Amino acid sequence: MAGIYIHIPFCRHKCHYCNFFSLASQKQKVPFLEALKKEIALRRNYLGEEQVNTVYFGGGTPSVYRPGELQEVLASVISPSHAGVNTSPPASPGTKSTSPPAPSPGGEGSVLPEYTLELNPDDVTEEYVEELRDTWFNRFSLGVQSFDDDDLAFLNRSHSAEQAILAVKRLQKAGFENISIDLIYGIPGAEKIRWLRNLETAFSLGVPHISAYALTVEPKTPLEWMISRQKSAPVSDESQVEQFKILMEKSRENGFQQYEISNFSKPGMHAIHNTNYWNGIPYLGLGPSAHSYNGASRRWNISNLSKYIENLDKGVLLYEEEVLTNIQKYNEYVMTSLRTMWGCNLEKILDEVRSAEYEVISKRAACFVQQGLLTEHAGVYFLTDEGKLFADAVASELFL
Ligand code: SF4
Repeated sequence: MAGIYIHIPFCRHKCHYCNFFSLASQKQKVPFLEALKKEIALRRNYLGEEQVNTVYFGGGTPSVYRPGELQEVLASVISPSHAGVNTSPPASPGTKSTSPPAPSPGGEGSVLPEYTLELNPDDVTEEYVEELRDTWFNRFSLGVQSFDDDDLAFLNRSHSAEQAILAVKRLQKAGFENISIDLIYGIPGAEKIRWLRNLETAFSLGVPHISAYALTVEPKTPLEWMISRQKSAPVSDESQVEQFKILMEKSRENGFQQYEISNFSKPGMHAIHNTNYWNGIPYLGLGPSAHSYNGASRRWNISNLSKYIENLDKGVLLYEEEVLTNIQKYNEYVMTSLRTMWGCNLEKILDEVRSAEYEVISKRAACFVQQGLLTEHAGVYFLTDEGKLFADAVASELFL
């Protein structure tokens, strides 16, 4: 199995906390699509014979394009004649239907491809949703971040709380059930009660998937500037821990599984795309700044839209590449697998990589078990709720 990620590098304007590669100017929207098509053709063999089970349009804001334009790109990446990628479109592609083509159940044995589109809530008009019904997208990830207008203003989001709720309802009304919403917690000024209200709204909407992230202060963002100039209160670790604990508790009460530290879903509704990343499954990343992984090396495209377009015009793709050592692969596996509900099979991975270290590492893991940060079952280690608060520190102690 393999995945394809497509990075759309445009946003209507920049959110205060964001350090993703995206541009507020949309002057290059048309040339970018042309360049993207060239990259798709150039990289037709990157995944070899792997079967593609997920395509994810992220960004940036993919919904700056009309659904028809995105569908054209989707069709070109999954059509063997265009991209040489081995996969199959969902049943009756392109036919208007109130039922999306694939409910993307996830889980082992799933054969239905997952086609995800990230949407900004203010783009989800009735007309836009109507056009989505003519595409193959069967999963939607909405950048809600908060259902509180004060939070949204603080974050400089382009939509209101009402637009976020309307967006979910419009998608549901059109028959799209596989909807994920992104939320941010630990926003300065947003105390426990506001976070509880946010979660209540999220659960009341009946979406099967929620991704929730602690607000982080990235370098060179307006948020960092605001905090350093004391125009905003700093992010409080205490509030973030408190809100993360509430998130775990409330999601459990509402029948969600925390299948990864920041990702919660109803049983069987976890995202195939991200789960592939965590399982070390190869993926092809297209677009400026997109990362790819083929099992042996990782590469990342240039984070410069003009250079990306100019060079692809000449048939050249600019990227950097790193061949991964066995130790790097081991460390990445520990870091990502520990964050998931499937846990980290230390015995197996150490056997594969460097079995001589097994005793030292397993002694450290046993120590974390004693401290109540990990549990162990048949050589597989899992973070406890307490351990999830220290996930990075625990993982780094188990690194080679
Ligand atoms: S919409 Fe997303 S990618 Fe664009 S600026 Fe905001 S957070 Fe960043």
